[in-house]
Amino acid sequence: MTEQNEKTCINCERTDAQIPLITLTFKGEAKYICAQCLPVLIHKTHLLADKLPGVEIAPPVNH
Ligand SMILES: [Zn+2]
Repeated sequence: MTEQNEKTCINCERTDAQIPLITLTFKGEAKYICAQCLPVLIHKTHLLADKLPGVEIAPPVNH
């Protein structure tokens, strides 16, 4: 477990040495996500549920 010291995207795990990261806070903890993965957080939150324990998942949109 190195992610406590190192800033890595919660989705793709790239570091801020590789790609700019956006800081999030969730339940008082700092998390990082890159701009490329931000749409995943917005639209496919369930894919990150194991990275954000307890995150509220929006119900799927019926088309
Ligand atoms: Zn990413």
